[in-house]
Amino acid sequence: MIIDLRSDTLTKPTPRMLEAMIQARVGDDVFGEDPTVKALEEKLAQMFGMDAGLFCPSGTMTNQIALRVLTQPQDEIICHKYAHIYLYEGGGIMANSLASVALLEGEYGILSAANVEAAIQPDDIHKPISRVVALENTMNKGGGAIYPMATIREIAAVCHKHGLYLHLDGARLFNALVETGDDPKEYGQLFDTISICLSKGLGCPVGSVLLGSAAHIRKARRVRKMMGGGMRQAGFLAAAGLYALEHQVNRLKDDHARARTIGTMLNELPWVTEVFPIPTNIVIFRVAAPHTEKEMLAKLEAVGIKAVGFGPGLIRLVTHLDFDDAQMEELHIRLKKLMP
Ligand SMILES: *Cc1c(COP(=O)(O)O)cnc(C)c1O
Repeated sequence: MIIDLRSDTLTKPTPRMLEAMIQARVGDDVFGEDPTVKALEEKLAQMFGMDAGLFCPSGTMTNQIALRVLTQPQDEIICHKYAHIYLYEGGGIMANSLASVALLEGEYGILSAANVEAAIQPDDIHKPISRVVALENTMNKGGGAIYPMATIREIAAVCHKHGLYLHLDGARLFNALVETGDDPKEYGQLFDTISICLSKGLGCPVGSVLLGSAAHIRKARRVRKMMGGGMRQAGFLAAAGLYALEHQVNRLKDDHARARTIGTMLNELPWVTEVFPIPTNIVIFRVAAPHTEKEMLAKLEAVGIKAVGFGPGLIRLVTHLDFDDAQMEELHIRLKKLMP
């Protein structure tokens, strides 16, 4: 048995999700004629109290479209130095938006309103123009950290005061929502654009949705076409999203509980020196020197445990829909036996 905890994107659609996909009513979505895509976009827009949604192939695309819509060349995007939009999107901010980035520090990837405000550029021809603040919730490289709503409110107030847009990379926003019980509509009020991934913890094979105002989503639709993201009978994919929103949101709590259990197991191992806090489904831990993450990843792989390196000395494990209690037991057995 291979225990694959590299990512929550590795899941395969369940038989019931596949059934929902096969049953989907479809049309050509570039002509605006796919009823299932429209239903998914409208469902999420309503849930977050926003005007409209746009179904896209990936979260990279929804993020990049949002930033492109909100900025002009010479603008600057303020984000954490570990933000996915900066680190893991192929340099897209530069290539797609010709924009600059201001990279901020913050514990476990969480920014503060004071740091954001201090990063806003003065009106000076030497400087780029601060235009967008982009947050990530949950924060992948921060170990799945959750933004406290109070912090988001403070940052939104700073954006409002200085006329900046606020974007959310909500690839794992539902992981945060099931833990906090925050009202999705408050997210809709505070953010100008929100990107949500269906292909992470929610277990869909493909898809992300960008939410925003009617005007922003109209522009976003044109940018999506330019990027080659206009899909035809995409309702087959959107149907998976609708199914997931109905049946696979609350179970994210199970992933979180399992992640915490893994954290407890790791804390007992002599070759692990630190386990990040585990608020959601991401477990990041540090291997004890002189061992390296590369060496320990190879040892894990040799006993059928797949994980990814997450920087010097760091390893990431992510729990998901296809990781169950039987695999958890097996994981525990293998970890206890593993000699560094
Ligand atoms: C996965 C992820 C994305 C989008 O990734 P895609 O693979 O392009 O769908 C965006 N932001 C974060 C934080 C992610 O983890």
